[in-house]
Amino acid sequence: MERWKTIIEPFRIKSVEPVRLTTVAERQQKLESAGYNLFNLHADDVLMDLLTDSGTGAMSAAQWAGIQRGDESYAGSPSWYRFLESVHSLFPFKHVIPTHQGRAAEKILFSVVGGPGKVVPNNTHFDTTRANVEFTGAEAVDLVIEEGQHPSVLHPFKGNMDVEALDACIRAHEPANVPLVMVTVTNNSGGGQPVSLENLRAVREVCDRYGLPLFLDACRFAENAWFIKQREPGYANVGVREIVSQMAALVDGMTMSAKKDAIANIGGWLAMNDDAWAERCRNLLILTEGFPTYGGLAGRDLEAIAQGLQEVVEEDYLRYRISSTAYLGEALVEAGVPCVQPIGGHAVYLDAAALLPHIPPLAYPGQSLAVALYREGGIRGCEIGTVMFGIHPDGTETPASMELVRLAIPRRVYTQSHVDYVIEVVRWVAERASELRGMRIVEQPPALRHFTARFEPLS
Ligand SMILES: *Cc1c(COP(=O)(O)O)cnc(C)c1O
Repeated sequence: MERWKTIIEPFRIKSVEPVRLTTVAERQQKLESAGYNLFNLHADDVLMDLLTDSGTGAMSAAQWAGIQRGDESYAGSPSWYRFLESVHSLFPFKHVIPTHQGRAAEKILFSVVGGPGKVVPNNTHFDTTRANVEFTGAEAVDLVIEEGQHPSVLHPFKGNMDVEALDACIRAHEPANVPLVMVTVTNNSGGGQPVSLENLRAVREVCDRYGLPLFLDACRFAENAWFIKQREPGYANVGVREIVSQMAALVDGMTMSAKKDAIANIGGWLAMNDDAWAERCRNLLILTEGFPTYGGLAGRDLEAIAQGLQEVVEEDYLRYRISSTAYLGEALVEAGVPCVQPIGGHAVYLDAAALLPHIPPLAYPGQSLAVALYREGGIRGCEIGTVMFGIHPDGTETPASMELVRLAIPRRVYTQSHVDYVIEVVRWVAERASELRGMRIVEQPPALRHFTARFEPLS
């Protein structure tokens, strides 16, 4: 390393997209017409959009060049072969099946291996993964370590699987009912926390004990590999590509959303070594996604993914990526704003329950905080708390286990001054937290209410 401490954005800007500054009064009016639901806003009215890091990354000049080069042949396109070679350079699975998103890969995989009576263990299922497991009638079980369930508990690998609980779960349900074990890297629903190679090896041993396949939900594999390099003893001098290879060598297959660590705006894939499963998956692919050499994607998308996948494992990029998320989180922690710690890879999670103890869970402290960040600064985050998880199929409502507001960082999109602005706004709102009021829901659908519910501030 050079002697300079400042970590810069390892790119320069060659195409700009203006963001629109609005006033507090304008944003208040937008909030009223959106029913205080940030999903109902027009994105043009958002200054800093931290709703998600999925599909929102900025593509490189080389990716845009790939878009031009994209070959749209129905079968056997050169773009497909470039995609396949790029995936294989990191994940040498025998079968690679392209899909339009990660959830399409999940849908196909669990249609083949799931079904009533089956049980799928994971460190923490992402919501689409859980939904696709459950849709087949199978049960989705989350087995993250105890530390991973508490926002302020420090642990270098809070995404790790509890291997004893995994072993007990497999024995309780009988191995024949467990089609595969899954590990999500990094653990998105658990705060973007990484999984260590040591843990992945221990999970592999449990799987071998019962003859079970192990799959990665690999959406943020590169961010996970960077955390291993930084935090796991013995890996400081191992390259990220080598760490990714070691992760891949421990598993039998993967699902992937190219909207995350392939820095593309759309895409995904399913990969595995098993011939019989792959054949059944390809048959389903043809029904719902497309021919096996393009899946649900245009040739140009395959090119963008092929290139993005090589850029995402560059260490200068990963150093900047993980440091810039930590820069935001650590500044907030230093200012006394309660956050999930340590800071994860792709997002900072504000702990609204700790910041707004005067607002009870059923008055939605996370929603109140998310609304205040938009009203005061035009920042759009996402409530991950009782609005998202509190309502049950029988119509009853209970508090979620945590009341979080996620500020997800799109890849290569915002600069340090944008992040400094976010810090200033969050601090300002946090200093006035006692003035915030709860919210009530005036209208909601029976399921997935966070997308469309309408709210009103409590007086
Ligand atoms: C985003 C995501 C998915 C689903 O991928 P989509 O491309 O959004 O369909 C699955 N698992 C994890 C961990 C994710 O973050």
